[in-house]
Amino acid sequence: MIRKIEPELRELLKAPKKIVITTHKNPDGDAIGSSLGLSNWLKKYGHDVTVVTPNPYPEFLQWMSGNENVLKFTQNQDEAAKQIEKAELIFCLDFNTLSRIAELGALVEQANAYRVLIDHHPQPDDFSNSIYWDTSASSTAELIYDFIEEMGGFDKLDVDAAECIYSGILTDSGSFRFSSTSSRTHHIAAALIDIGIDHTAIFDRINSSSSENRLKLLGYALYEKMKVFPGIGAAYIALSQEELKRFNFQKGDTEGIVNYPLSIGKVKFSILITEQDNEVKLSFRSVGSYSVNKFARAYFNGGGHENAAGGRSDVSLEETIEKLEALIIENKQAIKNG
Ligand code: 5GP
Ligand code: MN
Repeated sequence: MIRKIEPELRELLKAPKKIVITTHKNPDGDAIGSSLGLSNWLKKYGHDVTVVTPNPYPEFLQWMSGNENVLKFTQNQDEAAKQIEKAELIFCLDFNTLSRIAELGALVEQANAYRVLIDHHPQPDDFSNSIYWDTSASSTAELIYDFIEEMGGFDKLDVDAAECIYSGILTDSGSFRFSSTSSRTHHIAAALIDIGIDHTAIFDRINSSSSENRLKLLGYALYEKMKVFPGIGAAYIALSQEELKRFNFQKGDTEGIVNYPLSIGKVKFSILITEQDNEVKLSFRSVGSYSVNKFARAYFNGGGHENAAGGRSDVSLEETIEKLEALIIENKQAIKNG
C-alpha cells in the first residue's frame, strides 16, 4: 500500500491545469466511474479535464455526468493523442501496467505530463510520479473518494461526481458482496448517499438494462455451454464469435456470466472464454485463496486481482479450450486446495 499525495502534486493542483484522465481497455464500471468521478470533481476547481479511454464501453455505463465528452482512442485517435501531448497532468486510473491501455500506453509514456497512478491492482509498474495505491480497496472509485477527502476537497464533491464514484464501488465490489468490501466501503457509500445520490436508480441503470438477446445468451451459456469439473471445483464457459452473433452480441452482454458457475457450492474457479474481434479473451474468477491473478499471468498474458482477473490467448478458440482443460487438470490440486 502506498497512499501518497506528493507535495508537488498538491502544488500542481492549486491552479487550473490541463488534465487527462485515462483508464484500462474495455472499461468497466470502476474504470468509468472513477474516471468521471475524478473528472467532475477536478472541473469544480477550473481544471480543463479530458477523459480518454482506449476503446468504447457498454451502454449501461453511458449515463454518467461527463460521459458525452469522453474520447475513445479507437474512434478519435488524433484528438486523444493531442490531448495527451498537451496535458500537464495525467491520471492513470484502475490499471497497473501501461500495456493495459493498449496504444495509449506509448503516448502516456512519452508525454511530458506529471503522472499520477490511482489503482487497486497488485504489483503496479513504475510509470508514475505520484502513487495512490491500495490492493485492499474494493475499487479504484473508493480510492478516488479517499484521494478527494485527503486533498481536502470533500465540499466540492457534488451529486454528479458522487454518482460516478458510487457506480465504481457498486460494480467492482459485486454490489458490496466481494471480500474486498470493508466497513470503509460502506462508510463511503453512506457518505455518497448523504450527498444525495439515488442508489436504487443507479443500481437499476447498471443492472436492469438487459436486452432480450442478452438474457437469452446467458441462458444459452449456462444451459448449453457450461462445463463443470466437479471433482476439481472448476468450471468454464466458452462462446465463439458465431454464438455471440446469434444473440446479436453487444459490448457488455457477457459481463457477469463468469460469476454464475461460482454459485455451485463446489466450484471455486470459473472461467469465461469469448472470441471477439478475432481475439480470444478470458475472464477468471475464484472464491477463496486460489489466485486467478497468478493463473492469468502465468498462462494467458494477463493479470488482475487474486479473485478476479483477465487475459487473452494467441491461439484459436478450440486450442485455447484444449490448453485451459489441460491447465485445469495440471493445477487440480492447487484449485482443490483453494
Ligand atoms: P474482466 O474479467 O472483468 O475483464 O477483468 C477482471 C479483472 O482483471 C479486472 O480487474 C481487470 O482490470 C483485470 N484484467 C482483465 N483483463 C486483463 C488483462 O488482459 N491483463 C491484465 N493485467 N489484467 C486484466
Ligand atoms: Mn477496479
